[in-house]
Amino acid sequence: MVKAKKKFGQNFLQDQTVLEKIIESMPKNENKIVEIGPGLGDLTKFLVKVKSVEAFEVDTDLCELLQEKFEEHLKTGTLTLHCGDVLEKWEGSLVDERYDLVANLPYYVATNIVLKALADEMCENILVMVQLEVAKKFCATPGEREFGALSVIASSVARCEITQIVPPSAFDPAPKVDSAVMSLRKFENRSDEGFERFLRVCFKQPRKTLMKNLSSEFDKQKVSEIFDALSFSHTIRPHQLSTDDYHQLYKNL
Ligand code: SAM
Repeated sequence: MVKAKKKFGQNFLQDQTVLEKIIESMPKNENKIVEIGPGLGDLTKFLVKVKSVEAFEVDTDLCELLQEKFEEHLKTGTLTLHCGDVLEKWEGSLVDERYDLVANLPYYVATNIVLKALADEMCENILVMVQLEVAKKFCATPGEREFGALSVIASSVARCEITQIVPPSAFDPAPKVDSAVMSLRKFENRSDEGFERFLRVCFKQPRKTLMKNLSSEFDKQKVSEIFDALSFSHTIRPHQLSTDDYHQLYKNL
């Protein structure tokens, strides 16, 4: 049995019902599947049955094991395996054809990976297991406690929903926190780094007023005039505006 490496966020998904539900929730299209962190191949073995898969695994021990386990699929090309850190290979588009990302992600880099996939024009859909707290941040709606920059970025380009909540007991070793599978179906392929930077300013101190956060980077008088023109209260907090409001504000500033 392979010993899980904590530094690579290895929590192997063992619950067959959860695995089957992930496969059922997959988008029905002709896209290739990209899997990040195939691990022991427990999800991969379901994925290769339905689609052609391109997988990225950082752990060289697991890469060797996967090469043995999936020898036939690697020969026929149903599976392509890249060994190494996916983030080092990811510039612009991760692969050169339309793809859906389906994965049980390593939690220490999950937010970063989802943001990269949202900005990747070749990626059309994302179905990933992440920490429940992270899924809530991506899928929150205005007014909810978790609503923040991640929710605005996600809802600007995709329809986001949590499809299942998964307890620690579904994994080996069990993580300390609950997990969730979230689905992000993109309706727009627009990456805008300026907008992401702007949102980071808006949510710099989430409990302070939006006016205070913006005034740390923009001229206070100008921000005040734009708030008046858009009929935003000067005491509004960052989580109280909608995604559309943020786009309006960004355009004006
Ligand atoms: N897919 C398997 C499963 O569901 O049981 C394993 C999931 S485990 C949570 C995360 C996997 O991502 C591990 O196999 C780990 O080695 C791999 N991983 C961690 N960081 C990575 C990186 N930067 N690039 C590629 N793979 C990575």
